[in-house]
Amino acid sequence: MPWTILPGQGQSLAFHQQGSAMKFDVAILGAGAAGMFVALAAQARGLQVALIDPHAHRLNNFAISGGLFPAAGSSLQRAAGNADSPQAWLDDLRQFAPGMVNENIASAVAHALPLATDFLLQQCAAPLHFLPDMVAPGHSQLRFHCVVPASGAALHGWFREACAQYPRIRCLTEPAQVQRLDPGFELRVGSDRIQARQIVLAGGGFGANAEMVARFIPGMAGALHNGSPTQDGSTMALGIAWGAQLWGMDGYQGQGHTNPGGATRLGMSIPTLGGFLANRQGVRFVAEDIGPSALAPAVLAQAGGVALEVFDAAIEAQLGNHGAYQQAVKAGQVITAPDLASLAAQTQIDLPTLERTLEAVGTFATGQAHDPLRRQVFARVLAPPFKASWVTGALSHTQGGLLTCADGKVLDQQGQAIPNVFAVGGCAAGLSGRGADGYLPGNGLAQAFGLGWRLAQALT
Ligand SMILES: Cc1cc2nc3c(=O)[nH]c(=O)nc-3n(C[C@H](O)[C@H](O)[C@H](O)COP(=O)(O)OP(=O)(O)OC[C@H]3O[C@@H](n4cnc5c(N)ncnc54)[C@H](O)[C@@H]3O)c2cc1C
Repeated sequence: MPWTILPGQGQSLAFHQQGSAMKFDVAILGAGAAGMFVALAAQARGLQVALIDPHAHRLNNFAISGGLFPAAGSSLQRAAGNADSPQAWLDDLRQFAPGMVNENIASAVAHALPLATDFLLQQCAAPLHFLPDMVAPGHSQLRFHCVVPASGAALHGWFREACAQYPRIRCLTEPAQVQRLDPGFELRVGSDRIQARQIVLAGGGFGANAEMVARFIPGMAGALHNGSPTQDGSTMALGIAWGAQLWGMDGYQGQGHTNPGGATRLGMSIPTLGGFLANRQGVRFVAEDIGPSALAPAVLAQAGGVALEVFDAAIEAQLGNHGAYQQAVKAGQVITAPDLASLAAQTQIDLPTLERTLEAVGTFATGQAHDPLRRQVFARVLAPPFKASWVTGALSHTQGGLLTCADGKVLDQQGQAIPNVFAVGGCAAGLSGRGADGYLPGNGLAQAFGLGWRLAQALT
């Protein structure tokens, strides 16, 4: 088998061909949410792990993310008195994304998530909490977990420190070239030579690869990408070169609560708490609680590709632990208005139209009228002082990838496992696909940790 040069890394690596190879049970390409989780779970089983990531100095999607993941049936959730179950989460997923669920992995992920969460808590002493105030569209229960206050950067930081501390995990930060042996793999990582019996492809999705986005998700070609530039599809390309089958390549996690420019976002909870969106004309255009992902193309379809997310101080008071929202406030993205006239003046939206929109939303909230856009729940009648923020639609994270079985083994065109090749996270097929509509909030980390748990148990 020839060496496979991963895209963008050149071929001029110093490599001491004669040096003796370091031997590992498994080499993991990518130290993000999925790769680091698998490393922790694999080392706990006594396996020697090489964890390789040439972009360790850059923010990956895990560090950019909200860090929020569902774990229906975790011990933390039970202790908080929430009756939930893996089956209930699975039912929500199937109802949210009918006909679009990756049934190869969905049930396994559902049942693995509480085990993965309890593993992090009990064996790794992760500072995880159940979040009783994290309401999310599409979820029938409160079931999100994270550090407190919720922050992907903080959770990522904990994972990174944990991986550095276990002696069975060797962290390597140079680009890898990979050769398939029979059996196993040889990798050149900088001047190191590594042999591993198994390989895990965990380099994330392809949201930063303009050519792949144009090919697989043409509707988002050229759209704002608020994920990490490390999402170049390079480990997916490795699986493709080895004959892997792809699944759900047009699926993506959109983000319709992104502030223009993409540096901050409001988080997913404001519509569920009672907020609404209006376009530049002051008119509502979508059932806002369809979820942050499906909102993205709906917002992009409005004039200027933007909308105003309107809520009030009472809703803001419930967002104290929502890290993404707090960052948006710090960045000056949230407008405060003592009354509607002030909000209209600050946003240059026609006041009479905005008044009519707010009045209509009030009648939906009190049950006096039904929303023609078919939104079912308006949690409260908004009252001054008002809050608002301009948002746009962004592509956050691609969901399609290498098709795997429930244990993360990569499948070929005939549905057979490619020997010793595993994939997880954005590199692997996600939980549900097709456009932005199928992404249930939390699907990204749910797959990274849930499939990661199953994969780590399947490694030998
Ligand atoms: C704005 C935003 C908000 C999000 N919020 C949430 C949320 O709240 N909840 C949720 O569930 N999901 C969320 N997600 C999705 C979540 O971040 C991803 O599902 C998750 O990070 C996927 O894990 P991963 O390990 O595949 O990718 P990453 O975490 O991005 O890690 C991939 C790693 O692979 C490395 N890499 C790339 N190429 C190579 C290579 N060739 N060799 C070696 N290493 C390589 C990269 O440097 C990177 O460190 C969000 C995403 C974004 C962008």
